[in-house]
Amino acid sequence: MSLHQDLVDRDRHVTFHASTHLRDFAHGDAPGRVITGGKGINIVDKDGREFIDGFAGLYCVNIGYGRTEVAEAIYKQALELSYYHTYVGHSNEPQIALSERILKIAGMNMSKVYYGMSGSDANETQLKIVRYFNNVLGRPQKKKVISRMRGYHGSGIASGSLTGLKAFHDHFDLPIDTIRHTEAPYYYHRAAEQHGMTEREFSSFCAEKLEAMILEEGPDTVAAFIGEPVLGTGGIVPPPEGYWGEIQAVLDKYDVLLIADEVVCGFGRTGSDFGSHHYNIQPDLVTIAKGLTSAYQPLSGVIVSDKVWKVLEAGTGEYGPIGHGWTYSGHALGCAAALVNLDIIERENLVGNAAETGAYFQQQLKATFDGHPLVGDVRGVGLMAALEFSPDAAQRLHFDPVLKVGPRVSAAASEENLIARAMPQGDILGFAPPLTINRDEVDDMIGRAKRAIDRVTDELSRSGDLKQGQKDAALTI
Ligand code: PLP
Repeated sequence: MSLHQDLVDRDRHVTFHASTHLRDFAHGDAPGRVITGGKGINIVDKDGREFIDGFAGLYCVNIGYGRTEVAEAIYKQALELSYYHTYVGHSNEPQIALSERILKIAGMNMSKVYYGMSGSDANETQLKIVRYFNNVLGRPQKKKVISRMRGYHGSGIASGSLTGLKAFHDHFDLPIDTIRHTEAPYYYHRAAEQHGMTEREFSSFCAEKLEAMILEEGPDTVAAFIGEPVLGTGGIVPPPEGYWGEIQAVLDKYDVLLIADEVVCGFGRTGSDFGSHHYNIQPDLVTIAKGLTSAYQPLSGVIVSDKVWKVLEAGTGEYGPIGHGWTYSGHALGCAAALVNLDIIERENLVGNAAETGAYFQQQLKATFDGHPLVGDVRGVGLMAALEFSPDAAQRLHFDPVLKVGPRVSAAASEENLIARAMPQGDILGFAPPLTINRDEVDDMIGRAKRAIDRVTDELSRSGDLKQGQKDAALTI
């Protein structure tokens, strides 16, 4: 038995995996993979098999793998001060420097940073801030938060409720009762259903839907709206033209806070520092994680605007110290890793590379896959992109889910030693490579994806399924 297989088999007996068919995995009927190393955009398994990581882990390893500089910073910090809590005004040097740095990069009238360990816990913090904010302002009924169908904001009780994907709700009794979900800005499918709207018209349609929901719920009950600048896990869907401006106008009209979930977009993914910069969004609260440390340490954050901060401050004047905190908030090792990570992003101009090599990537994807018999849509921005598979691109039909076209293409890519992610809802293959990627590596990645997609196309053609479509848009939660 290979060393790799031995590890996978040991793992089956002892580990509870995320987003996994637990029974099939435990019984050996679903594959596992044990990654043991990484360098640049490549990762390697225990048997030495090398893959291009076309998804940067879970769109988080922005600076690529194997950076000794980061490892050394973590080591040095661990020797000096591995940890001390940050309750009641305690701090550590990397935390202070990191907050200064984040606020400088973010701009947008942001005032303070609160740290967590994951995007999910940061969004839990966001919801607590939103509740506290309105209680301080004497509007205890203004508590509902509107998210979007297909949005992804984590998998806790509150953050999982914000997430607009069915699998994260079913059998967990979610969403909780203060969360609502509005229209996803999914132009490719929805505009077709709405009789060929232009992107602009579709953006207005989304804003009208949001406004109708706010009016139906009662504006005095709606506290906040949360959205990813580019819809990520829900299918890597860049917003249609004019979307954020229209949404922002509705939120302003009804005094609803805007939370930009920048967990994926933050720190360069779109070719701008933040997705909010890219789309000219003015959030009141920002969620960050992933690219903040490029996942060399788990670290997330909530960035609080001046407007919200003033109210929080006033609240503690009235109620005493804020009743919120994590043991590991502002962890010294996480902050030390983040500082070096941000140094690398700046020094190597990785945001610029995400814009430039990203533009090349988008162009090559279109050149390769527009009109391909399996591909209905090619979309993306910067260094995030998706191919959506369809049996009939013109009518934007879906394959029967039993065919598992997305997972099959992802598995075929893996046979080409390429990791590209089958997104959890719909037949969508996602790409989000490290921001260090160059043009040759882009060509290599697309070449492997093409071979994988051609193979699945042949299989579907042989089984007579290539042109069998259905209309079920699967766009509700
Ligand atoms: N928000 C967004 C936009 C995400 O993509 C994710 C994870 O993919 C999260 C929040 C949750 O982050 P975590 O998995 O670190 O809890």
